[in-house]
Amino acid sequence: MAASTGGSGKGDKKGKKKHINKPTSEKYKRYTISGDSVKRAKSCPRCGAGIFLAMHSNRLYCGKCHYTEFLDKKA
Ligand SMILES: [Zn+2]
Repeated sequence: MAASTGGSGKGDKKGKKKHINKPTSEKYKRYTISGDSVKRAKSCPRCGAGIFLAMHSNRLYCGKCHYTEFLDKKA
């Protein structure tokens, strides 16, 4: 006589993604303390303080709202 066992076996989870380590945003690098005051990198006017703009050669870019500020340096 075969005893019926309901359900499938354990440890058969599907759709499990492999965890990949991403580099952190390192927001602390955007702050520099000079004396008693804290200097901050340029933040996004749309997102507000805390969301910093990425520095490029000729522009500043917000990775959150895609705001771009062009630096027109006339050399
Ligand atoms: Zn933004």
